[in-house]
Amino acid sequence: MKFSESEVKELNQKFENKSAEDVLIWAIDNFGSNVVLASSFQAQGVALIDLLMKVRPESRIVTIDTGRLPQETYDVMEKITEKYSADIEVLFPDKKDVENMVNEHGINLFYKSVENRRMCCGIRKTDPLNGFLKTVGAWITSIRQNQTDMRSNAKKFEVDYLHGRILKINPLVEWTKDEVWDYVKANDVPYNELHDMGYPSIGCAPCTRAIKPGEDSRAGRWWWENGTDKECGIHFEYENN
Ligand code: SF4
Repeated sequence: MKFSESEVKELNQKFENKSAEDVLIWAIDNFGSNVVLASSFQAQGVALIDLLMKVRPESRIVTIDTGRLPQETYDVMEKITEKYSADIEVLFPDKKDVENMVNEHGINLFYKSVENRRMCCGIRKTDPLNGFLKTVGAWITSIRQNQTDMRSNAKKFEVDYLHGRILKINPLVEWTKDEVWDYVKANDVPYNELHDMGYPSIGCAPCTRAIKPGEDSRAGRWWWENGTDKECGIHFEYENN
């Protein structure tokens, strides 16, 4: 199923003043099991899961276990599974690819160069997701416009050129960080405990640290890199730099 710019423009106009729940209901009612919510269980991710489970509890949820996640992420994954009786689909990287990469470049290769880091994100994250997204017609993400400059133009509906022009649906795109946290607290949604320890953005354990006061919210991701886009390639192609 491929989408065009004119189709998503129409959808964005139709849902301009509609809520995240309206977007989710439309997504599930139109795609059924052919749409999946992808989550790494960060604050906006668990808020979105709560919203989805309330309106369409039978929906599919997928996540990627890179093999390098913090224990706190596995803990919140389990809490979410239990609270919503959710059947979360877990994707893993290709075993041979990981073996070859680690044996050739070292277990902590990502610290050695940007190329190595991108190779690791590719093998452990984007390759499993890319393969999976070939099997669906649409996916739901929790990206928000004010997370990063690169995400500032995101829309509720987008043609996903990185994944074969399937539909990318971002119901929380206009939510602020405060709105996310108000929702999480008001609805008693399980969240990653690292958020309470100074981690606004959480990825793999060796590549994420707490931020200092005044630092950008993504400063703790791949903190040793300067001048890179702080994206793993799931939502945006890397710029050539
Ligand atoms: S975040 Fe770090 S450990 Fe995780 S896939 Fe990317 S480079 Fe590898």
